[in-house]
Amino acid sequence: MVKGKNIKWHKAKVTKKDRWMQNAHRSALIWITGLSASGKSTVATELEHTLFCRKINTFVLDGDNVRHGLCKDLGFSAECRKENLRRVGEVAKLLVDAGVLTIAAFISPYAADRNNIRALFNSDDEEFIEVYLKCDISICEQRDPKGLYKKARAGEIPQFTGISDPYEEPLAPEIIIETDRLTVQESVDMIIDHLRGRKII
Ligand code: ADP
Repeated sequence: MVKGKNIKWHKAKVTKKDRWMQNAHRSALIWITGLSASGKSTVATELEHTLFCRKINTFVLDGDNVRHGLCKDLGFSAECRKENLRRVGEVAKLLVDAGVLTIAAFISPYAADRNNIRALFNSDDEEFIEVYLKCDISICEQRDPKGLYKKARAGEIPQFTGISDPYEEPLAPEIIIETDRLTVQESVDMIIDHLRGRKII
């Protein structure tokens, strides 16, 4: 719902499809979800680099990074997580409209919040690609690159996904990657193969 009464959508002269033609690739949102330490940031960063080297316009929206600015006023309650993802979804939509192959790396534990973002995108053009990094929590806890599981187990981080807060597994994601069995390179290759198969790149 738009609050302002006198706000009208201004139509652009350059369309998203014009940009696709000029870029020689399509844009889409690659939404990477999974537990903390499942590998979201690592895969997102490697994927971005691979795409960039192939002259593809790409950009990563990272969960930790947006909480430094755009979402720095938000915490981790279900309400805050919802608003965090709503804002990220809208930014991602603008980037996709700008022709950018956008990668988002967010725990995004609630299916409803992920589905709200999916609903922002055009299903005919397959613009929303949900990638579930499936990794056993015991492996995530062993990796613990930021020491967060240790802190959560010690009760120092309330509402920690997988420990004291839920994670709802995606039921029908476009891609499932078992990052406790595959290497980072194999994980990136799976996404690249999907993008090629869908003729996005
Ligand atoms: P997240 O962003 O999901 O919290 P990170 O990417 O910060 O996770 O950390 C994941 C850790 O797991 C990194 O230290 C990374 O090197 C390691 N790792 C091992 N195998 C994989 C894999 N297949 N994909 C991604 N990360 C992996």
